[in-house]
Amino acid sequence: MESLSPLERALHAARALVLADLVAGDVAEADVVSLVEDSVSQRRWWVEQWPDGAHYVAGLVAQDVQDALLERYGRWPLCPVCGSGDPHALDVEPELGPDPHWVCHKAGVKVAAVGGLGRATGGMASS
Ligand SMILES: [Zn+2]
Repeated sequence: MESLSPLERALHAARALVLADLVAGDVAEADVVSLVEDSVSQRRWWVEQWPDGAHYVAGLVAQDVQDALLERYGRWPLCPVCGSGDPHALDVEPELGPDPHWVCHKAGVKVAAVGGLGRATGGMASS
């Protein structure tokens, strides 16, 4: 790998983590991937203004993509924990902080780290 600035590394990592979660949810289509790219480029500007925010980028990109998907596709990622009741989306916590996780507020549980949804939902994947 080329040596990247910490800022670029954070952006690359954020992109990879959110894409991994999209793949896990089977929604990584070309137009969805472009939503991730849009978010990453907006957050690049943001983190250039505030380099200390580099650790927060993954959680922010996840939330950007979640918001963009809500308009176009609906809720994402759906909660894999609650087996009954209305389907609901997971939330990113902390909204602005390092080490972001997907949480279900209904069950009050941490489901997976951002980027780790594939492992959390592996048992549900169609085969
Ligand atoms: Zn839930």
